[in-house]
Amino acid sequence: MGKMKEEFMRLQETPIMEACSECQGTGGVEYEVARPQSFSRDVGVIDVEMEVCETCSGDGEIERLCDCGEPVTLIMGQDAEVCEECANETV
Ligand SMILES: [Zn+2]
Ligand SMILES: [Zn+2]
Repeated sequence: MGKMKEEFMRLQETPIMEACSECQGTGGVEYEVARPQSFSRDVGVIDVEMEVCETCSGDGEIERLCDCGEPVTLIMGQDAEVCEECANETV
């Protein structure tokens, strides 16, 4: 297999990654925990805790997905929003 072909296939198989919109790329989401007043606490407070982002599993980035659910790969260019298959269908 030639070098060009290899590179082509790599681009075809590598999904475009983008910052997760759920956690803004941090990999974690804050959530509030209500700690009500108790014997050891004078007043109830709201604590903020971090949780691993479910959308990106804590990676902070996710594959850009086409409307059909397939990942958009690098072969389509950085700004592409449709997968190769869908792009071919509209031609
Ligand atoms: Zn996330
Ligand atoms: Zn598609």
